[in-house]
Amino acid sequence: MLLSTMPRPILATIHTAALRHNLARCRAQTLDSRLWAIVKANAYGHGIERAFEGLRAADGFALLDLDEAQRVRALGWRGPVLLLEGVFELRDLELCSRLDLWHTVHCSEQIDMLASHKTNLPHRIFLKMNSGMNRLGFTPERYRSAWTRLNALPQVDEISLITHFSDADGERGVSEQMAVFSSITKDLPGERSVCNSAATLRHSEFASDWVRPGIAIYGSAPDFPEHSAAEWDLQPAMTLAAKIIATQDLLPGDSVGYGSTFVAEQAMRIGIVACGYADGYPRVCPSGTPVLIGGLRGRTVGRVSMDMLTVDLTALVPAGFGTEVTLWGRASNGAVLSIDDIAHSAGTVGYELMCALAPRVPVLVEA
Ligand SMILES: *Cc1c(COP(=O)(O)O)cnc(C)c1O
Repeated sequence: MLLSTMPRPILATIHTAALRHNLARCRAQTLDSRLWAIVKANAYGHGIERAFEGLRAADGFALLDLDEAQRVRALGWRGPVLLLEGVFELRDLELCSRLDLWHTVHCSEQIDMLASHKTNLPHRIFLKMNSGMNRLGFTPERYRSAWTRLNALPQVDEISLITHFSDADGERGVSEQMAVFSSITKDLPGERSVCNSAATLRHSEFASDWVRPGIAIYGSAPDFPEHSAAEWDLQPAMTLAAKIIATQDLLPGDSVGYGSTFVAEQAMRIGIVACGYADGYPRVCPSGTPVLIGGLRGRTVGRVSMDMLTVDLTALVPAGFGTEVTLWGRASNGAVLSIDDIAHSAGTVGYELMCALAPRVPVLVEA
């Protein structure tokens, strides 16, 4: 028999109030656009069920996975649910009919499937244009004939018009893609949806009927480091925190961790933290990556290992066994360490870190 045990001292917290705040923040960017809360990838690692309460003021939920769509319906959500990649095979359309899922149509194969789908309830479609990203969608040249073909199908109800920007977060911006999209769709009826988080924040003049913020509602800046989450008034929706489970006193010349990549130049005290790459903390983060130790800014030393990482306690005298270490998010004293700072140290983006929170980490939902 297994004894009931205390978990390892590591915890992820999902902040419902922060989700609510960030959603309102995105909404405030637009005049009267409706807002899809993007909850693909299990709500960017936060968990659809855990994030739902904080996001229920959205006008709809958009995602990729049919399983995730069923989970949104199982939560009692009766409003719009949009499949951002549409269906993958014919029988997916049955679920769309049954659960009233709206779906993207981005290729002619998906029109073929709709044409052979038997339903009494015509589907709401978001017809996707490839306006320059060259991932999903009909090219501008083929877009109008796709619209005409769809519009003639009895299986199709209203058709909305959608495209996705490749550079809304950067220098290139959205004007070229927007010009293509506008000119091709000019006289077509239907609602428009073009803006992801970066475009909602930086190019809100294009907000149109529906905006599609993802990363911003989880409290990460889509255009970091040009802007920080704090500059956009976004709050972290996820905190990853652990405790110090041991300390060591080092002499000059002593090294830390695998590969001895960090060597003490003077006497120092270090803390061993119960969080490693098997929890989702990136192994590539070098010595010097920021952390909050008892809510005060500190740094890591040495390599991140599977279950542990190491922090410098030398200047943080009262810190020791049991002290809270915040890897990202909000510390107990209210101090914030943005996930974007850690992502930057790891050479990646906040998206990847939040999506990679490991299943072994216990998660608490905070009201
Ligand atoms: C993921 C996704 C979004 C959200 O992007 P963010 O950068 O997280 O705001 C919007 N639209 C589509 C089609 C997407 O796939």
